[in-house]
Amino acid sequence: MSRSQELFERAKAVLPGGVNSPVRAFRAVGGTPFFVARAAGARLTDVDGRTYLDYVCSWGALILGHAHPAVLDAVRAAAAAGWTYGAPCEAEVELAERVRRRMPAVEMVRFVNSGTEATMAAVRVARAATKRNVLLKFAGCYHGHADSFLVKAGSGVATLGLPDSPGVPGALAELTVTVPFNDAGAVQDLFRRRGDELAAVIVEPYVGNAGFIAPEAGFHDTLRALCDRHGALLIFDEVMTGFRVAAGGAQERLRVRADLTTLGKIIGGGMPVGAYGGRADLMRLVAPEGPVYQAGTLAGNPVAMAAGLATLRETERPGFYEALERRTARLVAGIGDAARRHGVTVTTGHAGSMWGMYFAPGPVRNFAEAKAADTALFARWHRAALARGVFLAPSAFEAGFVSSAHTDADIDSTITQLDAALGEARAR
Ligand SMILES: *Cc1c(COP(=O)(O)O)cnc(C)c1O
Repeated sequence: MSRSQELFERAKAVLPGGVNSPVRAFRAVGGTPFFVARAAGARLTDVDGRTYLDYVCSWGALILGHAHPAVLDAVRAAAAAGWTYGAPCEAEVELAERVRRRMPAVEMVRFVNSGTEATMAAVRVARAATKRNVLLKFAGCYHGHADSFLVKAGSGVATLGLPDSPGVPGALAELTVTVPFNDAGAVQDLFRRRGDELAAVIVEPYVGNAGFIAPEAGFHDTLRALCDRHGALLIFDEVMTGFRVAAGGAQERLRVRADLTTLGKIIGGGMPVGAYGGRADLMRLVAPEGPVYQAGTLAGNPVAMAAGLATLRETERPGFYEALERRTARLVAGIGDAARRHGVTVTTGHAGSMWGMYFAPGPVRNFAEAKAADTALFARWHRAALARGVFLAPSAFEAGFVSSAHTDADIDSTITQLDAALGEARAR
């Protein structure tokens, strides 16, 4: 038994499923997860001494790769000055200013500890501002694990085959209505019927929790126009896309101004940080300036703020996003070529350094179409890739990520390994 397997057995006795976040347990692809001993750059090393090229990048949190020296220095320096104060510090102001500079629609921001907290709070603000309760989300979009969002919530939930989660009161779930992503007609129809009840539309501007799904041209403009006409708010959940698909996130790429934006992952540089922000008139509703209560013992943590700041600074180097996008395009093109060589149907996509692929004929425009993908082939491919030292997200319905630590040579060797892995997966 490997050391990872030993640890997983021990873990299962004390942690539900042996993990602290479900997809990590590898149930969708079979086998047991490897336990990480250390990580640097584009590589993870497990407790058995095996090294993997990492395309999960902490589920998108690490755009610079692991243990980036600038972030490490910032974290060390911050920790040496004490790691939580329970009182404000300068780094919170600096990070907030930087976020606003990068995303002009985020006029004011509140830091929290996770993406889940960010979306929960943004919806509370939207409900308070509109004095309405109903929330529109899209099937397959994931907005964290808060009760209101566990309705057709994509990846982790979908993989486990739980349409909804037990423990979510039906009365609360009724306040969340879902329509298919990219279906402007369905959104229009819903607004026609229930527009005056809708507090907000929340959307992953590029879906990354049902695999990768790009919005069709004009889709978000339709959402923007309908929200304006009916007095609902548009919430862009940029926990994954923020600072990932472009310097200013999806809202820059798509040229759409959301009322509220939620952030996470990259904003903390791999430390537990989330944030929600947007129009100043809405954010002034938040306590203590306004009546909408939301608080956090460790929110605005100085070490986490330092990691986020150092990360954002690095991404502001000239050409940073262009280089990442080029490398990502090369990776997905390589996967497409490999699939063609093996006679396998594949659809790939990417935005910036966020990418995805389905073993399905394209285009994949929504979660229903994504679910037609060959998940058994994906599982075999995943295992073969892992054995060849390439770590892909352990589910057919997750996006992948490239970091600035991935070199062209890494991408090339990844393509070679993924090509061979596909041959093995197909042969079986
Ligand atoms: C990861 C993610 C979340 C949840 O963030 P956590 O930090 O895991 O709570 C919410 N929305 C989107 C789009 C995400 O990708």
